[in-house]
Amino acid sequence: MAKRDYYEVLGVSRGASADEIKKAYRQMALKYHPDKNPNNKEAEEKFKEAAEAYEVLSDADKRKRYDQYGHDGLKGGFGGFQEFTNMEDIFSQFGDIFGSAFGGAFSGFGGGGRQQRRVNRGTNLRVKVRLTLEEINTGVEKKLKVNKYVQCQHCSGTGSQGGSSFSTCSTCRGTGQVTRVTNTFLGQMQTSSTCPACGGEGHIIQNKCVHCAGNGIVKGEEIITVDIPAGVSEGIQLSMNGKGNAAARSGIPGDLIIQIEEAPHNDLQRDGNNLLYDLFISFPDSALGTSVDIPTLDGKARIKIDPGTQAGKVLRLKGKGVPSLNSYGKGDLLITINIWTPKTLSRQEREMLEELQHSENFKPAPGAREKGFFDRMKEYFQ
Ligand SMILES: [Zn+2]
Ligand SMILES: [Zn+2]
Repeated sequence: MAKRDYYEVLGVSRGASADEIKKAYRQMALKYHPDKNPNNKEAEEKFKEAAEAYEVLSDADKRKRYDQYGHDGLKGGFGGFQEFTNMEDIFSQFGDIFGSAFGGAFSGFGGGGRQQRRVNRGTNLRVKVRLTLEEINTGVEKKLKVNKYVQCQHCSGTGSQGGSSFSTCSTCRGTGQVTRVTNTFLGQMQTSSTCPACGGEGHIIQNKCVHCAGNGIVKGEEIITVDIPAGVSEGIQLSMNGKGNAAARSGIPGDLIIQIEEAPHNDLQRDGNNLLYDLFISFPDSALGTSVDIPTLDGKARIKIDPGTQAGKVLRLKGKGVPSLNSYGKGDLLITINIWTPKTLSRQEREMLEELQHSENFKPAPGAREKGFFDRMKEYFQ
C-alpha cells in the first residue's frame, strides 16, 4: 500500500506552521484514539498514521527532508526515522500529549502501557553438548552440570533478610514509575520514567540479605537433565525454558540453550540422514565373492559380496542410517567397495599373479553394466 502524504494525513497545507500541525495532530489523535474506538482496526491505523506524520512534520529537520525527498528521504540512510510497529511505541513517544485528556492511563491497551513495574529477567545460558553418532541414532538423556546464577537459599530469592522486610517505595508509591506533569501550550504534559529510588521494582528492601547482597541470586551450579531427541545434528540448538540464569529478586529466569556438536565416528561418516562407509576387500574376495561384517550404529551387519564385484560399487543397507529429526523413518547406510592392492609381494605370490596377468579373462573389458562412478551415485541417491 502506498504511503499517504503526511500533510494530507493531518489535513494541513504544505505551508502550515508548527502550531497548526500540532493542533491538527491533536484533533486527529483525539478522534482516533483507541480508548474512544475500542476494537476498531481502521481507527487504530488512522491513529498510527497520524502519529507517524506528526513525528516527521513536528521535527524541523525531518520535515525539511520530507519536503525535499518525500517518504524516501526518511528511510534508512538518512537516519532518524523509525516506523511505528505497535501502539505501545506510539504511547512511549506521544503518550504525553494525551496524558491529561485521558486521565493519564491507557488502561486495557497494549498490556498496560508504561504503568508497569519492572520485572527482572535472568540471562540466557549457552552450553555445548558433544554427541556420538550412536547417541544421535537412539536419542539420549544427558545430565549437564551447569554453572549459573541460582536463587539465594537464605532469602528464598527475595534479597531481603528473613524474606519479609520490604517496604513500598515512597518515591513512586509502589508503581515503579515517577511521573512529572508540566503545563505547555498543548495542555498538561506528562512524562514518566523508571523510579530512581527502587529501580522500577516498586518496593525497597529494608534489610538486605547478607549472602546475596540483596540480589536474591548467587553463583552456583545445577545438574540439569536434558532429553535429546534422536536425529539431531551439528549446530542444532535446543532451548530449555527457564533453565538459564536465575533472575534477581524472584524475577523470570533465562533460558538454557543447548548447542549440539557431533563427535567424528571411527568408521562411519554422516551425510544428512545417510551414513557412508568405505569397505576394502581383497582382489580374490572381489573375484570369488565373500561375506563381510560392516559396522553400523547398532552392532555389526553381515553383507554378501557377489563374485565379480567391481571396485566403486555402492551397496545400500536400507534403514541403517540416522533417524530423521522431524519425521519418521531413517536414512540408509551406503557402502562403497574398494579393492585392496597389496603393496609388497612374496616370490610365490608374484609368480601366481604373473601367470594371471597374461590370462585373456583378466583384461579389463567394461560393458554397459559397469557404469561410471557418477551414474552409480545418481542411481543410489535417487
Ligand atoms: Zn539472599
Ligand atoms: Zn520507586
